[in-house]
Amino acid sequence: METNNSKVLLIYTGGTIGMIKDYQTGALRAFEFDNLYKRIPELSHLDCQISVHSFEKVIDSSDMNPRHWVAIAEVIEKEYTNYDGFVVLHGSDTMSYSASALSFMLEGLSKPVIFTGSQLPIGDLRTDAKENLITSIQLAALKEEGQSVIREVGLYFEYKLYRGNRTTKVNAERFQAFTSPNYPLLVESGVHLKVMKENLFKPKPHTILKVWKEFEQKVAILKMFPGITPQLLNAFFSIEGLKGVVLETYGSGNAPTDEWFLECLRKAIGKGIHIVNVTQCSGGSVIMGKYAASEALKTMGIIDGKDITTESAITKMMILLKKNISPNLFKIKFEESIVGEV
Ligand code: ASP
Repeated sequence: METNNSKVLLIYTGGTIGMIKDYQTGALRAFEFDNLYKRIPELSHLDCQISVHSFEKVIDSSDMNPRHWVAIAEVIEKEYTNYDGFVVLHGSDTMSYSASALSFMLEGLSKPVIFTGSQLPIGDLRTDAKENLITSIQLAALKEEGQSVIREVGLYFEYKLYRGNRTTKVNAERFQAFTSPNYPLLVESGVHLKVMKENLFKPKPHTILKVWKEFEQKVAILKMFPGITPQLLNAFFSIEGLKGVVLETYGSGNAPTDEWFLECLRKAIGKGIHIVNVTQCSGGSVIMGKYAASEALKTMGIIDGKDITTESAITKMMILLKKNISPNLFKIKFEESIVGEV
């Protein structure tokens, strides 16, 4: 595997990774990625060419929304044939949502798109930003027999490359901020880059990139908790125009068996609202029908989220709802894997 002569485009959207501490005032300010080589001279030791595309207005990733996802995807679409790989520098807070969204938007992707960020600013003495950035660039540049090794949307953080749509942020202060509870690592970085080839996504040969840009935003996430009331549930499902709900249930997909609860869900489905069952556990899968407490959900036609993450489920839902497919097909499509998310 080699990286020589690869061309990598860095797309800088914002987040901690792009910050540098002004040691005189102590304040954090945005780092100019256009001067990347001056700031991180180590980059010149990488045998690949790096260019930077910086968003005009860089953001904290708490401000991310579908318009930004489209903006990221459009840069990739425009530059797709000019580069071998892409690194998206992004705040860690919503990185799993963005990586999931992009994995569904970039249909037919056969080059690496690596999301990364950091817990400490790039100018901080103990920063994790440099390692995350340098290894992400290497991963985006990695080729074998002239073909990209990684051909999917990944997320690299703290020595590990994960499938982006399988990740979730689990820690606000540890360098190991992400995990992929239901899918193994793609690459582990140590003295060497250890690529787990068997875990990589294998796109169909000769695919052409097609970018999906429409999102249905009339969606919501509802997390179950003991003591949830009929008032709350009825008010929630009365939201004007609501089209889809990711229902975070207990354990392997279980929910209350009270008749008022089931009736409210039945009514919502009757109104055409798509409901997906995902587990609020950090690992494992929904298995509808395993317990009596999920049997009724299965019978009424609730969609089985299996082992999908909430981040992936909500972004997949936003996209599938814009595909104008019948409720039956929606359920079938949601339950099968598009890009390795279930
Ligand atoms: N609040 C920051 C963001 O998500 C945190 C980070 O970059 O890690 O943009």
